[in-house]
Amino acid sequence: THFGFETVAEALKEQKVRGVFSSVASSYDTMNDLMSLGIHRLWKDHFVRNLNPGRNPLTSGPSEQKGWNILDIAGGTGDIAFRMLDHASTINHDAHTKVTVADINPEMLAEGRKRALETPYARSSRLNFIEANAEKLDMIPDSSIDLYTVAFGIRNFTHKEAAIREAYRVLKPGGVFAVLEFSKVNNGLFDAVYKRWSFSAIPLIGQLVAGDRDSYQYLVESIERFPSQTEFRDMIKDAGFLVPGQGWEDLTGGIAAIHKGVKP
Ligand code: SAM
Repeated sequence: THFGFETVAEALKEQKVRGVFSSVASSYDTMNDLMSLGIHRLWKDHFVRNLNPGRNPLTSGPSEQKGWNILDIAGGTGDIAFRMLDHASTINHDAHTKVTVADINPEMLAEGRKRALETPYARSSRLNFIEANAEKLDMIPDSSIDLYTVAFGIRNFTHKEAAIREAYRVLKPGGVFAVLEFSKVNNGLFDAVYKRWSFSAIPLIGQLVAGDRDSYQYLVESIERFPSQTEFRDMIKDAGFLVPGQGWEDLTGGIAAIHKGVKP
């Protein structure tokens, strides 16, 4: 049946995504640097700075609960989580904010745990790793999260709407849903140069450095298939979020974008 076909196709997609990230886990950071010419670090820095995680004890009232409860979905190797905790500690003098890194892939989580050993948070209760599918976060209670982040993850989800609905469910009223993801380049000439780079250089770098052309070919195609800025903004609105301003911020001419929604 049509339904049966869809289910099989979806199962295959999930399996494929799992395989891609299992095979890229150990070379993941090097590859990100090579493919983005190091720019992904600047985007992640900006994403975190702009969200300003943590509660500054000097400016928050005594009745406010200590620290933020952050959920970093598809958190992989911990890139966003470590930045969040650094920001909360050093900028907001907040030693209570906690981050839970959730990812569907145990190999990516293992890399994250390994990398955490080089941070001050390895053995603290402020950082915690869980294996979970963004589309079904049963272990996370309703209205329990202050900030939900997903960086370069949502385009891999089979059911993006379901994941956005889960984000809405777990966020507290006033909580923020924030997405950093590849997006659509907004200048024709720049887009032509970018497409040439991504469709030819990225699979080639994947082949030469990680010995894995197919996984990187998949990554490029998943970027191409992901909705435009306005389409994605509308998906966030449709889930019930309030969207501030136009709803997104383009980074590097739209190669990536930050989308935000607030749970009313
Ligand atoms: N957030 C990290 C970063 O910015 O470097 C990792 C991004 S990596 C490109 C995408 C991650 O999404 C992978 O670790 C993959 O395992 C995870 N992922 C894919 N589908 C998922 C799902 N349905 N639920 C949770 N994580 C998922």
